[in-house]
Amino acid sequence: MYHPMIDPKVVQAYPPLIVDRADGVYIFDIDGKRYLDTVASLWNVNVGHNRREVIDAIKTQLDKLAYYSTFQNTSNPPAIELSMRLMDMFKPEKMSKAFFSSGGSDAIETALKLARQYWKLVGQPNRHQFISLKWGYHGVHFGGASINGNPMFRNAYEPLLPGCHLTETPYTYRNPWNESNPEKLSKLCLNELSDLIQKIGAGNIAALVAEPVQGAGGVIVPDASYWPGMRKLLDEHGILLISDEIVTGFGRIGALCGARAWGVAPDIMAMAKGINSGYVPLGATLVNERVASAWEQPNVPAAMMHGYTYSGHALACASANANLDIVTREDLPGNAHHVGTYFQESLQQLMKFSHVGEVRGKGLMAAVELVTDRVTKEMLLPPSPYIQTLVGTARRECGMIRVQGNRLILSPPLVFTHAHVDETLRILNIAFSAAENI
Ligand SMILES: *Cc1c(COP(=O)(O)O)cnc(C)c1O
Repeated sequence: MYHPMIDPKVVQAYPPLIVDRADGVYIFDIDGKRYLDTVASLWNVNVGHNRREVIDAIKTQLDKLAYYSTFQNTSNPPAIELSMRLMDMFKPEKMSKAFFSSGGSDAIETALKLARQYWKLVGQPNRHQFISLKWGYHGVHFGGASINGNPMFRNAYEPLLPGCHLTETPYTYRNPWNESNPEKLSKLCLNELSDLIQKIGAGNIAALVAEPVQGAGGVIVPDASYWPGMRKLLDEHGILLISDEIVTGFGRIGALCGARAWGVAPDIMAMAKGINSGYVPLGATLVNERVASAWEQPNVPAAMMHGYTYSGHALACASANANLDIVTREDLPGNAHHVGTYFQESLQQLMKFSHVGEVRGKGLMAAVELVTDRVTKEMLLPPSPYIQTLVGTARRECGMIRVQGNRLILSPPLVFTHAHVDETLRILNIAFSAAENI
């Protein structure tokens, strides 16, 4: 098999770790060795591995109905329950309808396509272009790749969708103005966005797509003024806001969704990952009352010519219902805030290592930026003996950590405790000491 996001030659040279089973915040390889999962697999196993409630819900559903298509006009109880539940959870955002799919990339494609169809239905078909942020990650399908803010994910697959524009992201550590004051940087970025909207013409723009905290881009946390300022600008021009909540949805940054943490209500939300902690593939795209109203206009034909064979898959939806029960009952957004505060403080210890340029994050997501030199901020990139030693030592010390580009990414399950944070720091201190001493 090919492995995602890696050169197959590297897999040949370094055989993969083979994961056999998992429990709570730990995974076990085929030799029975246990590792602390500091990344919740891929930001997604938020309730932890091997949760009985989720497994039982899947088994119970499997005994009744594994799957039946929801094309046209059939449905199933878990999908109905999940859509009701999501509308209830995101009532403050005035969400009104859900469109189910099989993952995050699907949820983004759905968001982009529904945004375009919305504008056609309300009689403004010229509004078909998209704006997104540099460093943003929105999955790998052609639409999502077209709005990706990192050329690394695009180059091999170009040419992509025309009419996609990037705007500067409020990234204090690296930005073209060398502005390290977050509030001033936020203003500069919003001014740039305003200029870009003028340049393209608001009448040609369908939506802006953004993550409340950029994940794969390196856990880039905007200033608190950015999202409200962005929403205001978009409102002035009638542009839809698509919030990519695939990492931030269901608690990771300490609120039920990322946009809520910034006090902003988006028009469309793309969800996946934490929606069911990866027990069965699932994505969901939610649209608010404004967007949904376009399909409710009497005498306007509005067929939704979009859908996946597995839209509303009964097992996936059953696992999400059980997963979201846990998220609510155990107040995982609250835990992400509470344990996340200790996590962020503890991680600052890593600034004692000379190749750590910055440690940043929010709630239970964080990045450690590796640099060859703190003054020049030159990225310390793979393949580098430093990174190899870092990851290798962490593995030896029983920690699964992930380095992407020059960023060490941490995104533990939301059931993490203070003790798990201490265990993470113990592993990281040993791994960084080893890397600094090569
Ligand atoms: C993971 C991710 C996606 C893509 O989701 P897949 O399930 O991998 O297709 C999109 N956006 C963000 C912010 C993500 O983190």
